[in-house]
Amino acid sequence: MSLEFEMGPIRPPSEATSILVRVTRNCPWNRCAFCNTYRGQKFSRRSVEEVVRDIDNIRTIADRILDAAGNEAQGLSSRVIAKARGLDITPEEYYRQVLFWLHHGMKSAFLQDANSLILPAEDLAKILRHLLHCFPELVRITSYARAKTVSKKSLEDMKLLREAGLSRLHFGMESGCDEVLDLVDKGVTAAEHIDAGRKAMEAGFDLSEYYMPGLGGKALWEQNARESARVINAVSPTFVRIRSTVPLPGTPLGEMMAKGEWQPLTEEEKVRELRLFIDSLEGITSRIVSDHIMNLLEDVEGTMPAEKEKMLGVIDRFLAMPHDDKEIFIIGRRIGHFRTLDDFHPDGELAAVRKKLIDAFGSIDAGMLEVLRNYI
Ligand code: SF4
Repeated sequence: MSLEFEMGPIRPPSEATSILVRVTRNCPWNRCAFCNTYRGQKFSRRSVEEVVRDIDNIRTIADRILDAAGNEAQGLSSRVIAKARGLDITPEEYYRQVLFWLHHGMKSAFLQDANSLILPAEDLAKILRHLLHCFPELVRITSYARAKTVSKKSLEDMKLLREAGLSRLHFGMESGCDEVLDLVDKGVTAAEHIDAGRKAMEAGFDLSEYYMPGLGGKALWEQNARESARVINAVSPTFVRIRSTVPLPGTPLGEMMAKGEWQPLTEEEKVRELRLFIDSLEGITSRIVSDHIMNLLEDVEGTMPAEKEKMLGVIDRFLAMPHDDKEIFIIGRRIGHFRTLDDFHPDGELAAVRKKLIDAFGSIDAGMLEVLRNYI
């Protein structure tokens, strides 16, 4: 009998070393104008029994690997997979997934896909309890969740899930501005974002709220910054994660851009919006995190309120650079030459790339849009 277990397509970067436990497939909303992750894929729920079987399979594979490796930590290499598998028909990739997790200490699990909390709380609690029963060493279990779904859940259900072992939630707030939320068909209001965020915090979760500079385009950038900060100020989530907007071809946002109904911000304009957002944050203790290549300034990170000025200082350093240096930094960052502003230095090769991009695309921003689309 095969020991395969289902895995969905994505996880947050902070869950790179987590084992994946798929409790639903795809996204029950699937309408956000900027998102193509599950486009064309039908949403479905998995039964508690199916998920429990997956967890048991992961446990069996982990036991076989640990037996094959003996007591030596360095024995946890790919060489033990052949021994652990023996005559098992399970494809090797499942053993590799579990081996990778073992290498990282089996400390965290991530529930997939886009909105695990759509399951009845008691069903999800059964899955969580079984997961912790099989892997008592887990210190963190995380899931994506839609704020709309959480706004409809009772505080008691949220506390039940927290007590069953779910410890961290990621909400795709994207914007706290109702006009922008309508524009991108997010299916949730700013008031529901606040309600859901506060409920998650009160139930004791670590909460990540995502914010997308540039989502309002040129028409709504200022509202996007100010209103998003207003929601974050009302929730004070554990983390605020920055995800700068990149309009992808084949998405409704990409089509709106092609028709001229939505105009993207330039890289510099997105930085200016981020500045206004951070400057508008007050009365919170959240940690601001820039953990994605879509963000130009990776070093805009810090804990509020102590590091607010430090974050604004990084932004102001970029904004004060001469125009040509800014463009060379943008290119260098996007092609992996620079990571942070501190890495910046004048570079003849990048200056030549800049000229080629301007010749090919008309501007650095148009060229960078193409580069960024390939990252996603
Ligand atoms: S809720 Fe999340 S996964 Fe679903 S369409 Fe919107 S952004 Fe994509």
